[in-house]
Amino acid sequence: TADLADLDPEIATRIDAELSRQREGLEMIASENHTAQAIMQAQGSVLTNKYAEGYPGRRYYGGCEHVDVIEQLAIDRVKDLFGAGFANVQPHSGAQANASVMHALIRPGDTILGLNLAHGGHLTHGMKINFSGRLYNVAAYGVDPESHLVDMAEVERLAVEHQPKLIIAGWSAYPRQLDFAAFRRIADQVGAYLLVDMAHFAGLVAAGLHPSPVPHAHVVTSTTHKTLAGPRGGIILSNDTDIAKKINSAVFPGQQGGPLEHVIAGKAVAFKIAATEEFRERQERTLEGARILAERLGQPDVAERGIGVLTGGTDVHLVLVDLRHSELDGQQGEDLLASIDITVNRNAVPFDPRPPMVTSGLRIGTPALATRGFSTEAFVEVADIIALTLVAGTQQGPADTAVLDDLRDRVLALARKHPLYPDLAPLSTP
Ligand code: PLP
Repeated sequence: TADLADLDPEIATRIDAELSRQREGLEMIASENHTAQAIMQAQGSVLTNKYAEGYPGRRYYGGCEHVDVIEQLAIDRVKDLFGAGFANVQPHSGAQANASVMHALIRPGDTILGLNLAHGGHLTHGMKINFSGRLYNVAAYGVDPESHLVDMAEVERLAVEHQPKLIIAGWSAYPRQLDFAAFRRIADQVGAYLLVDMAHFAGLVAAGLHPSPVPHAHVVTSTTHKTLAGPRGGIILSNDTDIAKKINSAVFPGQQGGPLEHVIAGKAVAFKIAATEEFRERQERTLEGARILAERLGQPDVAERGIGVLTGGTDVHLVLVDLRHSELDGQQGEDLLASIDITVNRNAVPFDPRPPMVTSGLRIGTPALATRGFSTEAFVEVADIIALTLVAGTQQGPADTAVLDDLRDRVLALARKHPLYPDLAPLSTP
C-alpha cells in the first residue's frame, strides 16, 4: 500500500529528476515524443495485472471481458486511422512487430532486402547481429552517393539480382519520402512481400501529411511512440486476410506471450487523439519546425564551417546534419547541444568516414517540441540557437563559455514558455 516515494525513494527521486530534465530541456531526438498524460494514466493502471494470451473473444485466460473491449477499441481505431482492414496491436515494440512479420511471411535462410543501417535503415532491417541479420540472408540497398536519396533503379537491380522474399521500405534516419508504389512494383516483379516500416513517420501519415504506405504494402509495421505520440509499442497493419491470419499467429504464440493490456489501452487513447484536428495541426507544426531548422542550418554562417544538411532539406519531422566536412564530429555536436540542454543524437551519415561511436552526423527531430506547443516563431528561435551552438563548436579552441551560457538561457526561456505536464505532481515531496 506504500506510496512509491516511501517504498522506493531511489526510484521515485530519479523519476522526478527525469520529469525535471524533460521540462527544462528541449527534446529533439527524432524518435521521441511527450505522450499525453491520459496515456500515461492508462499505462499506469491495473491493466498491468492482467494476463490475456490470445485475442479479443478468443483468450486463454478468464476475466478478459474488460481488456477484450479495450483491445478491440484499439484495433478498430487504428484500422480507421490508417484505412487498414486488419490490425494487430499486441507487439511490445517496433522490433517485435518486425520480428513477427518476418516470422509470419518468410523462413530462416530466405533473403531480405532493406535499407543499409549505415544509410538510415533500422537494426531490424538486416543488421548483422540483430535477429534479422542472423536468421535471414541480407541484401541491402543504400542511398545515392551524390543525392543521398534512395535510388529505385538500384533497388530494382538488387532485387532482381538477389531475389529477396521480403523487401523492406522504411527508415530511422532519412529526411525524405519513399516511393511506396515503386517499391511494390519491384516486389511484385520478383515475387517478394513488401513490408513498409512507418515507425518514424506514422504520425504524419495519420494526419494526412505524408503518403500512406497502407494501399501499397502487403504489411505495414509501426512503433506507436514516435510521431504517433502514444505509449512505447508496436502495431502491424495489412489489407490481406491471408497475411492477417499468419500475422496473428506469428505475434502470439509465435513471438510473444501475454499482451501488455495497459500499453494497449494507451495505444487506444493515442489512436483516438491521432484522429483529431488538434493532432493534425500538431503534425503540421512538426513539419514546419523541421523545415525551419533545415533552412537555418543552410545559412552561410553555418555552411562556411563545413556543416551541411543532408539532401538539402527535409520532407519529414527530422533534419540530418552532415558534419563530414566539419572539424566538429557527431559526438562533439551531441555533447555541445546537451551542454545547453537540447537533446539530440549523433547519427552516422551515409559514407561516414568517422567510426560509428563518433559519427559525422546529428539527427534532430521536432515531434516532441511540436507536442509541447512550439509555434513557427518558437521553432525559428530553436533553429537559431542550434545553428549558433554548432558554429561556436567549430571555433578555434574550446567553445566560448559566455556564448554557450547565453544560448542555454535562451533554451531555458523557451522551455519555461512551453510548460510540460503542468498538472503532473512530483512523486516525492521536496
Ligand atoms: N523500425 C524503425 C524504422 C525504427 O526507427 C525503430 C526504432 O527506432 C524500430 C523499428 C524499433 O522500435 P522499438 O525501439 O520500439 O523496438
